[in-house]
Amino acid sequence: MADDERRWRPETKAVRAGLERTPFGETSEALFLTSGYVYDSAEEAAARFAGEAYGYVYSRYANPTVRMLEERLAALEGAEACMATASGMSAMFSALACQLESGDHVLAARQLFGSCHQVITKILPRFGISFTLVDGADIDEWRAGLRPETKVLFLESPSNPVLSLCDISAVAALAHEAGARLVVDNVFATPILQKPIELGADVVIYSTTKHIDGQGRTLGGAVLGTQEFISERLQFFLRHTGPSLSPFNAWVQLKGLETLPMRVRRMSETAQTIAEWLEERLGPGRVLYPGLASHPQRELAARQMAAGGSLVSFRLEDDRNFVFRFMNSLQLIDISNNLGDTKTLITHPASTTHSGLTEEERAAQGVTEGLVRLSVGLEHPDDLLADLEQAFEAARA
Ligand SMILES: *Cc1c(COP(=O)(O)O)cnc(C)c1O
Repeated sequence: MADDERRWRPETKAVRAGLERTPFGETSEALFLTSGYVYDSAEEAAARFAGEAYGYVYSRYANPTVRMLEERLAALEGAEACMATASGMSAMFSALACQLESGDHVLAARQLFGSCHQVITKILPRFGISFTLVDGADIDEWRAGLRPETKVLFLESPSNPVLSLCDISAVAALAHEAGARLVVDNVFATPILQKPIELGADVVIYSTTKHIDGQGRTLGGAVLGTQEFISERLQFFLRHTGPSLSPFNAWVQLKGLETLPMRVRRMSETAQTIAEWLEERLGPGRVLYPGLASHPQRELAARQMAAGGSLVSFRLEDDRNFVFRFMNSLQLIDISNNLGDTKTLITHPASTTHSGLTEEERAAQGVTEGLVRLSVGLEHPDDLLADLEQAFEAARA
């Protein structure tokens, strides 16, 4: 990546970083829907496979459209290198599996996205990798959870769906003292509102399905880190296990990235307005949002995030009938477990994203029956407030 690209501001990077034009001089990023590549000679093919000549060999390994997305994401994140994957979960799984082996231990925050929880507690243990889950907000628990065989610390901040935070700098410092790496799932904050690598994290992962696509069209993921981590650990694992991002999805996400800074800031402003309105209506302690003065970690939020983000969770009565009546009464806001979309979406985690967990596991994370999660989109805030208001009235009638 050119040095001047590194110095651009996020808005400029989002539109221009990583752009590589063909001799046709197309304005927009080219879409290379090709699985393979041809060579001028057999010698050239042999040289590319040997890594002695530059060039693409197969789209499971690399593709020019996917490459543009990777370069643009790396520039926005301020990371040395990036590899895109087919989904956020393949990014998460690969980022861990590429650096772990039997006998290793993973230390993770308990407040996790459902599938991340399943990977750490059900899938990795089948390969002899043990784990400990701690309260991500409690640095003493992180310290106490470390073992000599701990190789990876993993966290999500803010976490899905309770929006609790982890002190990324403090957890990174603990990881490095112990000779381990910190992997951060930065989906909720996005690279616009939080920079885990600047805070000390070694690896950052994204589900590009969320704010980066931003319009609910494609699945994708990304892993970012040092050139050494990507080249020495991740690249081999991804190339040979094959969760490659489709060039078409990469192209859609490149276009999504162009408006990411504007969308995320606007959605976060609307989310702040809604969180304040909900807190007035529901009372203190019922709204979980890092931008609220009542958030138990508001100082940490101000230190490591530029704003509260686009997700707001809130606690209604622990009565599924009431919660479902409220959700079913919404006329504008859609019921959907996706997030980061331009359309405002609402979900009931206990019966959807977190239904695969046991009741005890849900309770330990604070995923109660009455908890709902709102992913705030780009509609006018007044229309969203009016919809919430009429749904509260209808549900209580
Ligand atoms: C959605 C999500 C994932 C998984 O991403 P997919 O693209 O759905 O595979 C991982 N972590 C968090 C926090 C998410 O919200």
